[in-house]
Amino acid sequence: MRTPLIAGNWKLFKTLAEATALVDELAPLISAVDDVEVVVAPVFTAISAVAKAAEKTVIKVAAQDCYWEEEGAFTGEVSPKLLKDAGCSHVIIGHSERRQYFGETEETVNRKTKAALKAGLVVLLCVGETLAERESNATFSVIKTQVSGGLAGIPASDLAHVVIAYEPVWAIGTGKTASDAQAQEVHAFIRSLVAELYSSSEADALRILYGGSVKPENVKGLMSQADIDGALVGGASLKAESFAGIVRFKG
Ligand code: PEP
Repeated sequence: MRTPLIAGNWKLFKTLAEATALVDELAPLISAVDDVEVVVAPVFTAISAVAKAAEKTVIKVAAQDCYWEEEGAFTGEVSPKLLKDAGCSHVIIGHSERRQYFGETEETVNRKTKAALKAGLVVLLCVGETLAERESNATFSVIKTQVSGGLAGIPASDLAHVVIAYEPVWAIGTGKTASDAQAQEVHAFIRSLVAELYSSSEADALRILYGGSVKPENVKGLMSQADIDGALVGGASLKAESFAGIVRFKG
């Protein structure tokens, strides 16, 4: 009932030529895949070129962040409206690297989420605990704060345009993946939280992605979990072969 979504976060990698070449290489490798939504998130400067390269493919384009104002004197920022104009359908908000290095807070994540939804973008809202938080048994309280903070004031009618990505910070770019059971436990918790905040039918329809060192070798186990509906992939999305291997998780 929930269409799986596999998203690649290219972070601060790929020139224009490299980004469009990756789309050209990836598209034929996944053209036969049925019923999986595929999204890639290039750097801002490559968005429109990637969107053009992806035009006749199943690949959709996301930005890695956005600002909450539509326009104005906000030097260096990019608004959801301009992301749409450049060819984005999705935007990643609240990635742990933005929380860690760029001062992202629950409030800014929430403002960005609201603005992106208003502009008609699908939001990939990232949440996840650090290793210290997991080791001090704070995982569920951190996730609760981040999910309820990110979704604060967002009406149920907009929830269909939100995807939550659970990305334990200790598993991002480290080669350490949460076990299938560890990931499932948090995904189930997020779904129950959304059921409390909204309703069980909204929670049942919500897609929750796992992120953290997902590779072709571990995606099957993760995707077989009841509450894991896809993956947000960093490192392994930078090569067509490995990302295609993840998109083709069904075999
Ligand atoms: C990410 O950046 O969202 C991510 C999950 O990275 P990686 O797959 O490299 O751990």
